[in-house]
Amino acid sequence: MKHKMPPLKYQEDALSPKMSAETLQFHHGKHEQTYFNTMNTLIEGTEYENMSLEDIVKKSDGKLFNNAAQSWNHVFFFDQFSANPQPRPSGNIAGAIEDQFGSFEGFKKKFTEAGTTLFGSGWVWLYRDNQGNLKISQESNAGNPLKQGYQPIMTCDVWEHAYYIDYRNKLPDYLEAFWNILDWAVIESRYL
Ligand code: MN
Repeated sequence: MKHKMPPLKYQEDALSPKMSAETLQFHHGKHEQTYFNTMNTLIEGTEYENMSLEDIVKKSDGKLFNNAAQSWNHVFFFDQFSANPQPRPSGNIAGAIEDQFGSFEGFKKKFTEAGTTLFGSGWVWLYRDNQGNLKISQESNAGNPLKQGYQPIMTCDVWEHAYYIDYRNKLPDYLEAFWNILDWAVIESRYL
């Protein structure tokens, strides 16, 4: 079974200039596509061949884990943006963020700091642990909370390929723009 990379839910220029069409052409169209292609090649004729993408992430390691998790992470990442973003959380997740981090601003600051201080390539995650608490984590390379048995809620890709076309070396500028294209309606739908 081949896993097909889902198309973006918006036009390539819909997030411009915060995330340009060129970035989406490369990041979604080339980087993410390559992770899918490599994963599909690696699972051929193996015990992973008929597993869901999520199960491959949970059960694999090494090169297959890297490519499967990068595939899964990118789908999750691009899904949370919108041309008509809802920039602030509402409903249950807004309350949970306030309980855990004091305020939305406090959460934003902590999550952004996790992005600027992550050394090397990786991802920043908001996830729910097994006690139901919201937590922020930094993961290197393809790492994600799913692998650890937690529920991913939101993520930021801080690999250089995510921002170098639009922001060059200015990671903080990318992180600032990130908050302005998020659709909290999507993120809230993951927090059930
Ligand atoms: Mn990426």
